[in-house]
Amino acid sequence: MAHNIETQRQQLITSLRNGGVNDERVLSVIATTPREIFIDEAQRSMAYADCALPIAMGQTISQPLMVALMTQALQLSGEEKVLEIGTGSGYQTAILARLSAHVTSVERHQQLAFLAAKHLMQLGITNVSLYVGDGSLGWPDAAPYDRVLVTAAAPEVPKQLVDQLVTWGMLVIPVGSHTRQDLLVVHRAPWGPEIRSLGGCVFVPLVGEKGWSE
Ligand code: SAH
Repeated sequence: MAHNIETQRQQLITSLRNGGVNDERVLSVIATTPREIFIDEAQRSMAYADCALPIAMGQTISQPLMVALMTQALQLSGEEKVLEIGTGSGYQTAILARLSAHVTSVERHQQLAFLAAKHLMQLGITNVSLYVGDGSLGWPDAAPYDRVLVTAAAPEVPKQLVDQLVTWGMLVIPVGSHTRQDLLVVHRAPWGPEIRSLGGCVFVPLVGEKGWSE
């Protein structure tokens, strides 16, 4: 079984490379972070398939390729203070925590935040602060951040999130309709936000004051 999991992980890494992920630090952290512990028992055989999977509260653990592309876009060196909106299973949080100095992560469902905390502890990850609340407004208490990652789809870029970045900080966020979005990279330049798209994506909705209503 252990051999089987190792083979599946290596196959996943190959498919991430084919999908355009070339940051070796990101690939190495994905290769050594057990995704199966963030997934319900019934879904575990699918842990290394490159697809999103259902978690509690009608939410999903993001597709590994999306996790890898978003993390790669953040260009983490290990020194950064990161804000993540949408903790979900905590898998993306674990990847960020292993590539940065500290992660503040906000989830609107208490039950998911509780489970994510348990799984992060299981992996011995301690550089994460988890909060329950509406992350569409960011998390001003710990601002400014070097990077912000939103893992749920917003109707537009929330100004509050850009305001909580340092100058030259970077926000990665899916923006679009309920059913289809563009993955945007927003740089907070001194003269204002600069935005580019990494392409199409599909995320569950960001629900909150600067997101969608329930
Ligand atoms: N990165 C997570 C993705 C989970 S799906 C993973 O791979 O497991 C997106 C998550 O965003 C869901 O758990 C959802 O409950 C959460 N979410 C949606 N709107 C939110 C908001 N306004 N504030 C905080 N979390 C939110």
